[in-house]
Amino acid sequence: MLKTKTYGIGRICVVEGCGTRLSAYNPSSVCALHGGEWRDDFHRGSRKSSEREEIARRCAFDPCGREFATTNPAKKYCSDACRMKAFQARVMAARHPNEAEGIRRAS
Ligand SMILES: [Zn+2]
Ligand SMILES: [Zn+2]
Repeated sequence: MLKTKTYGIGRICVVEGCGTRLSAYNPSSVCALHGGEWRDDFHRGSRKSSEREEIARRCAFDPCGREFATTNPAKKYCSDACRMKAFQARVMAARHPNEAEGIRRAS
């Protein structure tokens, strides 16, 4: 008959201030109480990441700077209009640095 696998004798729960001695048959490094808590946290965490969470952002188009909420982490501007304006400003800045600066001040 095979020997039952054990995980070491004399280990204690790694949660600070717990100090519960672990069973040699417990594969985890925490006691049953803390193991349960950690599992709950894990489930909560995985639910959260599968959901699309709203992120509060500030429009990356400087003269606008409006705060907006989005579920898309890649979204940088509050609207398509700002995205276009920012793009145009970038093109302008590349071609005529002084004009682009004028547009910034005007708006
Ligand atoms: Zn514990
Ligand atoms: Zn904007």
